[in-house]
Amino acid sequence: MSLFDRLSEKSQLEIETAKEVGTKVVGLYCTFAPKELVRAVGAIPVGLCGKDQTPIRDAETILPANLCPLIKSSYGYAITNTCPYFYLSDFLIGETTCDGKKKMFELLGQLKPLFLMHLPPCCDENRSLNYWVGEVIRLKDFLERQTGTKIGEEELSRQIKIHNKKRVLLKEIVGYCANYPVPISGTDMMVVMESRNFLVDIEGYINNLQRLARELQAIKREGRSVCSPDAPRILLTGCPVGKGSEKVLRIIEECGGVVVCQEHCTGIKSFNLLVDEDDAPYKAIAHRYLKTPCSCMTPNQGRIELLCQLIEDFKIQGVVDLTWQCCHTYNVESYLIKTFLEKRYQIPLLHLETDYSESDTGQLKTRIEALLEMFH
Ligand code: SF4
Ligand code: SF4
Repeated sequence: MSLFDRLSEKSQLEIETAKEVGTKVVGLYCTFAPKELVRAVGAIPVGLCGKDQTPIRDAETILPANLCPLIKSSYGYAITNTCPYFYLSDFLIGETTCDGKKKMFELLGQLKPLFLMHLPPCCDENRSLNYWVGEVIRLKDFLERQTGTKIGEEELSRQIKIHNKKRVLLKEIVGYCANYPVPISGTDMMVVMESRNFLVDIEGYINNLQRLARELQAIKREGRSVCSPDAPRILLTGCPVGKGSEKVLRIIEECGGVVVCQEHCTGIKSFNLLVDEDDAPYKAIAHRYLKTPCSCMTPNQGRIELLCQLIEDFKIQGVVDLTWQCCHTYNVESYLIKTFLEKRYQIPLLHLETDYSESDTGQLKTRIEALLEMFH
C-alpha cells in the first residue's frame, strides 16, 4: 500500500516540475472524460472531483445548499484555491452530466478555460454514437489549440493501449477479492483505485500495479485474509466515493462486513470497459466512453448489467447503494436497482442517502449493522 498511499503528494511535486518545462495540466471531473486524448497531447490529466467536507461552507456562499456535496466540494476547492491540483490545472474539461454539475461548470468557466463536452441523453449506439464521436473530435481540437500539439494517430493508438493495460491490471487486482481469502480491504482498494487520478508517470503506475498484483497473489496463496470466512460480502454502488467521503465504506468494514467490490466511479465502472484497439481510434474512444453506466443516462441498462455480472463474479451477499444528498438521478434509479436485484438474486439492498459530514454516522452505523445481521 505504501506505493499508493502517498501517491497524491508525490505526484504534486512531479507535476510542479513538469509544469516548469511547459507541460500542461488538465483538470477533469468525470469518468466520461477521455484521458487518452489528454495524454496524446502530452498533457497530464488530474481528477478534481471534490471528496471532502472542508470547502463546502465556502461553496455555499454562492451555490445553493441543497446541491450534492460532490458538486459543492469541487466548487468550494476551486473558489478557495485550496486544492493544489485545481491550482496547477491550466484548463478544465467538464461534461453535461447532471443539472447541478453542468451549471457548476458555467461558474468554473469563469475561473479557468473550460471545455464542456455535451453528452447525449442516452447511450444507445444507433442514436448517440455519431453525435458523441463529434464531441470527442471537438475535444481533440480544443486540446490541440490549448497545447499547440497535434494528435498523431500513432500516439493516440499508443495511449489507447497504455490505458487499456492499466484497466486490465486494475480489473485483475479487484478480482483477487472475488473469493476467499480476501487479501485487501475495500478501504485500501479504494486508495489504490483512486490513486490513478493523479498520475504523472502512467507507465510507472502500471509497474506499481503489477507489483501489487504479485503481492496480492502471494497473500492469497498463503491463505491470509483481511476478514473471516463468514464476513458478509458487500458490493458498494451509487455515487462516487473517495478519500474524505469514504464514511459508508469505512462503517461497513468497521461493523464486520467486507466490501469486496465497488461499482461506483472511483471503482469498476470506470475501468471495466476497454477501448477497441482494432477500431478507428476516435470512434473506438467514443464508443467506450459512451457506455459508462452513469445514472445521468436514461435508460441506464448498463448499470444493471454490470451489477448482475459483479454480484455473480464476486459472490455478493448484500448491496449498499449510496446516494449523495440531492443527487436525483442516483436517488431515483435506486428503486429500479433495488426491485430488480431483490427479485433476481433475492439479496438485500440497503439504500443510504447522506452527505460528506459525520453528523449521521451513528444512524448510518445502525442501519448498516441491521443489514449485516441478516447474514448471521
Ligand atoms: S457518477 Fe456519472 S457524473 Fe459522476 S463521475 Fe461518474 S460518470 Fe461522471
Ligand atoms: S453525485 Fe449525482 S448530483 Fe452529484 S455530481 Fe454526481 S451525478 Fe451529479
